[in-house]
Amino acid sequence: MPIRIGARFSLIKVGGKAELCSNCGAYAKICPMDIPVSQYIQNGQRILSDQCIMCQQCVNVCAKNALSLTLGLDGGSSLPLTVRKTETPPAS
Ligand code: SF4
Repeated sequence: MPIRIGARFSLIKVGGKAELCSNCGAYAKICPMDIPVSQYIQNGQRILSDQCIMCQQCVNVCAKNALSLTLGLDGGSSLPLTVRKTETPPAS
């Protein structure tokens, strides 16, 4: 059960320009971590989720070039750290 603390406090995160985002929903379909990317962008925030693996699929899928990697200091999210459930191997 990995907790991605490093992702939360990373200086490099995906950021977006809300004025370019047409809220087409492409992010929701492609993000392997099911992160609500458009909610962050519409709120003027970078992707603060500790579940982001920085795969940049959301950056690449955006037809409006609304997303990019950004450098900044935002102290992480006010959301509690989450633990992603992973499959456990059967006991032998
Ligand atoms: S970089 Fe990858 S994991 Fe992070 S929000 Fe974009 S698609 Fe999801």
